[in-house]
Amino acid sequence: MARIVQKYGGTSVGDVERIKKVAERVKATRDEGNELVVVVSARAGVTNELIARAKAVCAEPSERELDQLLSIGEQETCALTAMALHGLGVKAVSYTGAQAGIFTDKVHTKARIQTIDAKPIENDLKQGRVVIVAGFQGINEEGNVTTLGRGASDLSAVALSAALKADKCEIYTDVDGVYTADPRVVKNARKLAELSYDEMLELASSGSKVMQSRSVEFAKKFGVVFEVRSSFNHNPGTIVKEEVAYMEKVVVRGVAVDKDQVKVIVSNIVDKPGSAAKVFRALADATVMVDMIVQNVGRHGVANLTFTVPQTDTQRAVKALEPVLAEVGGGQVAVHENIAKLSVVGVGMKSHSGVAATLFQSLAAANINIELITTSEIKISVVVDRDRVDEAARVAHAAFGLDTL
Ligand code: ADP
Ligand code: ASP
Ligand code: MG
Repeated sequence: MARIVQKYGGTSVGDVERIKKVAERVKATRDEGNELVVVVSARAGVTNELIARAKAVCAEPSERELDQLLSIGEQETCALTAMALHGLGVKAVSYTGAQAGIFTDKVHTKARIQTIDAKPIENDLKQGRVVIVAGFQGINEEGNVTTLGRGASDLSAVALSAALKADKCEIYTDVDGVYTADPRVVKNARKLAELSYDEMLELASSGSKVMQSRSVEFAKKFGVVFEVRSSFNHNPGTIVKEEVAYMEKVVVRGVAVDKDQVKVIVSNIVDKPGSAAKVFRALADATVMVDMIVQNVGRHGVANLTFTVPQTDTQRAVKALEPVLAEVGGGQVAVHENIAKLSVVGVGMKSHSGVAATLFQSLAAANINIELITTSEIKISVVVDRDRVDEAARVAHAAFGLDTL
């Protein structure tokens, strides 16, 4: 007997037929004698619909009320999954995040899990019940419902696995595992049998939606080994863990695309110590997440600062910059929306030279212009025109031999 946490994503519980299929899978795992906790997402599209409705009634909805609203998407599928299991004769109980003992800090819409009181779930497991938990949500010390950030049902599953000391954590989604690139964009993408936490983390934070990046951080911190696999077949998926075996020649493991970034240019600021500090302090105080940064120093003692921020932070960034412009000698702020970030990731980069050259050459051969560049030990990212980023992903994927892995 093993203790297993399974998570089913939005497409996997997309309608009542699919919820019934999930219930059959859960029953099969239960019938093998395992203890089972199941985390479910909202039906695909529901969270976006709820956000749109909130904005239709109020331009800037209160974040507390937004969390109150968004949490119902997961609660619907959670209760329906329990009912579907009852229909199959399986003992099951559904819980909201709060009922499952998931306590968070007070930051609405992207709360962090602080503790999990596993007693209620432990008790149900002892009684032979399958426990279904609504993903993506918790409760804060004031008793308010919080949500954990987009895609965070993954995090609910990983955190419950750690709290319950589960033997297995399985993330069921609509693809067979983690691929060398988004298989919907790069036709020749290959499924990876194994991936290290660090590589998964870089892919996730570079825009590969298949796992939410905070859930990978959490898994690394608490040593939760998880498998990403399809809810539509029984193929083996991708195991994500600390150490994986590598072939010497594999330098780049995967390619990721992020279309949710915009480029901000602060131009004509005085080129003297403190200017950049003022600009980025103002952004930090407004909790804007700045990613890539480049400074160009022009003639006549003025400089331009160019950086990227998530699209959702654009207005906050522009507002935060207004008051500092005068302090840094005037200057203008411009926002370019039509950009995207392409990243290549691999721990093999640490010991290989020429990775940047290969990437830049492949993009040059396709006549794709590079606007910004950043590098780290295991990742190189470039900003290119958004309309060409899918093509850029395909050429980079081929250039690093991933098509023929
Ligand atoms: P879920 O609703 O199950 O959480 P998501 O839509 O969040 O599913 O994530 C799965 C999607 O991630 C896939 O449909 C795929 O298009 C996308 N994706 C992006 N990059 C990758 C990758 N490297 N490997 C697999 N899927 C990826
Ligand atoms: N329903 C939430 C979202 O769409 C959480 C999740 O699906 O993981 O972001
Ligand atoms: Mg997801």
